Amino acid sequence: MEDRSFFYRDTWVEVDLDCIHTNVSSVKKLLPNEVEIIAVVKANAYGHGDVQVAREALAAGATYLAVAFMDEAITLRKKGIIAPILVLGASRAEDVQMAADSRITLTVFQKDWLLEAQKHLKTDSRLSVHIKLDTGMGRLGISSKNELADFEELLALDQRFNLEGIFTHFATADELNQSYFNQQFALFQELISVLKVRPKYVHCSNSAATLRFQSGVYNAVRLGIAMYGLTPSLEMEPEIPFSLNEAFSLRSKLVHVKQLHKGDKISYGATYEASGDEWIGTVPVGYADGWIRKLQGQEVLVNGMRVPIVGRICMDQLMVQLPHEIPVGTNVTLIGKEKNQFISINEIAKKLETINYEVPCIITNRVPRLYKKDGKIVELKNYLL
Ligand SMILES: *Cc1c(COP(=O)(O)O)cnc(C)c1O
Repeated sequence: MEDRSFFYRDTWVEVDLDCIHTNVSSVKKLLPNEVEIIAVVKANAYGHGDVQVAREALAAGATYLAVAFMDEAITLRKKGIIAPILVLGASRAEDVQMAADSRITLTVFQKDWLLEAQKHLKTDSRLSVHIKLDTGMGRLGISSKNELADFEELLALDQRFNLEGIFTHFATADELNQSYFNQQFALFQELISVLKVRPKYVHCSNSAATLRFQSGVYNAVRLGIAMYGLTPSLEMEPEIPFSLNEAFSLRSKLVHVKQLHKGDKISYGATYEASGDEWIGTVPVGYADGWIRKLQGQEVLVNGMRVPIVGRICMDQLMVQLPHEIPVGTNVTLIGKEKNQFISINEIAKKLETINYEVPCIITNRVPRLYKKDGKIVELKNYLL
């Protein structure tokens, strides 16, 4: 990282777009030709950067994008993305004209919503929608055949609505025990059997189901976590048919190095005390960057060596214990590869007692994102400047 003119603090996220590309290509090869990939780029592409990931996923063979909320879809449109975008979550009925004007596809599942939406859509507008079925996730969706049949009829009566797709979401596709998955899948098949007309897209698989059950992918899959190079769960890791490449790294540099003597203290609360002479480095990253206080004790890489975070993590800085004096300016890797060492997102998730999904999502927008292709920096996004 040599281009320093886009940010003025040495802490940044590196997103390797080649990894995104390879992961999408690997999934594409695994799937039958006619199955389309819907790249899930909600939450700023799981913290990686929405438009950069969207473009790379499309270049690697994805044909559709998905986000959680309309704001996320609109922001992609503003950034010049013309591919179809599905909003997976609930949208407000009064916002349908905005969705139609922006060619955004909405998820629909309530009769009352539809009746309200009809009041807000101009006569000559056309809104594409996908029906959401709740087969056991218990979040959003229609769960009975009668309700689905009524809903399909109501939609069909209004030419302004284009029923383009139907889908469901699995609660346990990443678990080795398949019984609940099988139950959901069976209910999905049963529900869609009542449709008079099968829409263009029928989809149910997230990353876990895509990687494990290719026979159930219908004609599209919603690919999220695996595109970023992360495993949907630790227990299904052995079942993944190819290697995934983690795209996200978090890097910084030592900004101060000093020697402590026996009894010297470190950070708030003065809870860490030197037991003898030792070297301490200061790294300019903290909980306001999403590197939360629970990561005290976690190792980071300094020049490829694993060293522990000591004392409490501050809002903007933290301290590490060094094996010997190391120069100011030395690289620090909090997530990612350095020399022969690797701190994976799974390692951080384990320390935080959470799932890998959460880790890149909580690295805040204060940290600039730097995009790499063929080992070169191709773009830099600083949300502050
Ligand atoms: C987030 C999301 C996905 C992507 O799931 P992954 O496990 O990340 O692949 C797919 N479908 C829906 C409805 C989602 O909300």
